[in-house]
Amino acid sequence: STKPLHGRVAVVTGASSGIGEASAEHLASLGAKVAVLARRAERLDDLVARVAKSGGTAVAVAVDVTDAAAVQAAADRVQAELGGADLLFNNAGVMLPGPVEELRADQWQRQIDLNISGLMNVIGAFTPQLVRAAGERGVADLINTSSSAAQNLYPTFAVYAATKAFVSHLSKHLRVELGTKKVRVSAIEPGIVGTELQSHVTDEGASAWLEGSKESIDWLRSEDIAQTVGFIAALPLRVNLPQVFIMPTAQP
Ligand code: NDP
Repeated sequence: STKPLHGRVAVVTGASSGIGEASAEHLASLGAKVAVLARRAERLDDLVARVAKSGGTAVAVAVDVTDAAAVQAAADRVQAELGGADLLFNNAGVMLPGPVEELRADQWQRQIDLNISGLMNVIGAFTPQLVRAAGERGVADLINTSSSAAQNLYPTFAVYAATKAFVSHLSKHLRVELGTKKVRVSAIEPGIVGTELQSHVTDEGASAWLEGSKESIDWLRSEDIAQTVGFIAALPLRVNLPQVFIMPTAQP
């Protein structure tokens, strides 16, 4: 086959909607076998069926990535069924903005649990597979979804932005650590992408700001990020794109 990702085994977290779903489909269309992870099993099954219908291979693994033991079991399944991952798109995340004075410790914790601890659970469970693949096949990619919020200042998004600053800084450090083992590490930092992410926002001010921005900004689409993920993974092995800051043209 001449497909650019033929022979690759990809794992995508947050694959039941938005950026993860579009990326899983795109990676499969580029020839990778894809394990799709998220909590909603039905959505994953639909995705797997769609991939199969277009001639690709996907496996659904329903898992809550905040549960470290469950993530390890998922990694063991990927090893057994697909032969170990050489591409990890570590993408599951949640955004719950709100004024800090409202003291929504529950929402702070949900963001920290998923965007930081969940992300680390996935890195912990799959890094051995990536390192092994890099050693044996000469290629592996760890691509983390950060956010433009890791760089820009958005009032009331402090905790979310801080979790994403963690992702971006972690990625830089892991790159120098794993690059010597031929594992490429990247962080993608998107501006606003139209997905289910906005639907979880409970703060009225933040919701109104997001909704209102649609009038002046043509939001990114999940497909735009999926193309970026595919581009990073298909680069020649000597090339690592550490950081991709990708914005809607009209978003400041
Ligand atoms: P969505 O809400 O559409 O997707 C989030 C995904 O994460 C879903 O598949 C969801 O599936 C999954 N998920 C949530 N909680 C868990 C959990 N505990 N365990 C496993 N999976 C979980 O949003 P996006 O596609 O927009 O978000 C993807 C990433 O992109 C996030 O990290 C987000 O922060 C980041 N991002 C998004 C931007 C945007 O404007 N949309 C901008 C910048 C970054 P399920 O509920 O089935 O578990």
